[in-house]
Amino acid sequence: MIYQTNDTIVALATPNGIGAIGVIRLSGPEAVTIAQKIFKGKDLTRQASHTIHFGRIADGDVILDEVLVSLFFAPHSYTKENVVELSCHGSAFIIESVIKLLIKNGARAAQPGEFTLRAFLNGQLDLSQAEAVADLIASNSKASQQAAMQQLRGGFSNQLNALREQLVNFASLIELELDFSEEDVEFANRDQLKQLILTILGVLSRLIESFELGNAIKQGINTVIAGRPNAGKSTLLNALLNEERAIVSHIAGTTRDTIEEVLNINGVNFRLIDTAGIREATDTIEAIGVQKTMEKISQSALLIYVFDASEISIADLNTDLESLKKPGVPMLVVANKIDLLDPEQIAALPNTESTLFISAKQKERIEELKHKIYHTAIKGQLAGNEIMVTNIRHLEALQKTEEALSRVLNGIDNPITSDFLAIDIKQALHYLGEITGSVTTDDLLENIFSKFCIGK
Ligand code: GDP
Repeated sequence: MIYQTNDTIVALATPNGIGAIGVIRLSGPEAVTIAQKIFKGKDLTRQASHTIHFGRIADGDVILDEVLVSLFFAPHSYTKENVVELSCHGSAFIIESVIKLLIKNGARAAQPGEFTLRAFLNGQLDLSQAEAVADLIASNSKASQQAAMQQLRGGFSNQLNALREQLVNFASLIELELDFSEEDVEFANRDQLKQLILTILGVLSRLIESFELGNAIKQGINTVIAGRPNAGKSTLLNALLNEERAIVSHIAGTTRDTIEEVLNINGVNFRLIDTAGIREATDTIEAIGVQKTMEKISQSALLIYVFDASEISIADLNTDLESLKKPGVPMLVVANKIDLLDPEQIAALPNTESTLFISAKQKERIEELKHKIYHTAIKGQLAGNEIMVTNIRHLEALQKTEEALSRVLNGIDNPITSDFLAIDIKQALHYLGEITGSVTTDDLLENIFSKFCIGK
């Protein structure tokens, strides 16, 4: 789809359904004149920008609604075009009728994300900021909102643009060498170029590393609760969530499938996954559960292993710890049911730094466990204001930039001709530019904006 950008678009900006008000937004050169055609009250075309006006919407002689109209004149609006927002009563019938009327008078129904696309094309936002608008709207925790807000405010773009500018300088010097290729001159100092690329590679690798946490924060951090049947996994899940969600039962292995719940700790969402028992079982359903547990663990950022401290043997405990180990997935060991033990028995249990003694049933030391969950997953990474990559498209572009720059580095160390260096530097610039949108294609734009909803 090629976007048309010189007409006036219209869409409902608030959610579908019944509400106190529904806001219909128009953007484009004719926004005000089209609104004027259906508005009874005053002449909107003669009003100042950033003003609000009361009046009625009429379809011929029929009054459809009483509304407030907000006016924003180009370039002082979200899209940098003329924008009109009609605050109607939030009835589905009224909204539909008003939109139809606006279309009849010359507006076009907007495509998904088309308002934000126009904001991007008109230079209000760069591409990563436009994507941050979608992330901000979808954010459901303090941490995901903060990450999106930081991207929207341009932190990420500024960092990339600074890198890009420095590279552009070298690219032009190398291009110049190409013009003098007969004379074997070097305008671009290879040592300086190498230093610059090493610096950029350092920044890139920090950004690439930040994706794991950045993405987890956006989606919620996958956390598996595993342990033998009856260890108290479901009880613990309830204690963490502070309500009766999972079905607690004293028959071993009743949690046949996995249950997923969201727990918010310090503004970060954890997706808690309760799994069936990990015991080697002959029962097929249970065996599927076991396999599922292992699968879930490998897809998770954190594992909480729960055991019944009043019952388990040291040998079984060690078997479990050994079989659940997955590289890259930190494990918290939770000794449950300490209410059934006396202090000497507790002291005799194996203890490591990551072991926490709790009673899920009595809700003892649950806050401590939450604290540990948070710090094990976040590892101090949310302390400062560092920029976090949360978008897979950005990750891929950063990785491609990294590859291209590594080739440049290689090319400097094993001297190759300037034209090959120039090609790789250009590639790196291209991929960096894809993130902020200084390099775009219709396909890329469509791919990004078609995921927005209509009205955004
Ligand atoms: P799951 O199979 O691992 O999900 O275990 P459940 O949560 O269903 O718990 C199994 C049994 O242990 C239930 O009867 C729970 O009430 C009991 N239980 C769970 N946690 C504790 C605890 O901290 N102390 C005691 N005394 N019993 C517990």
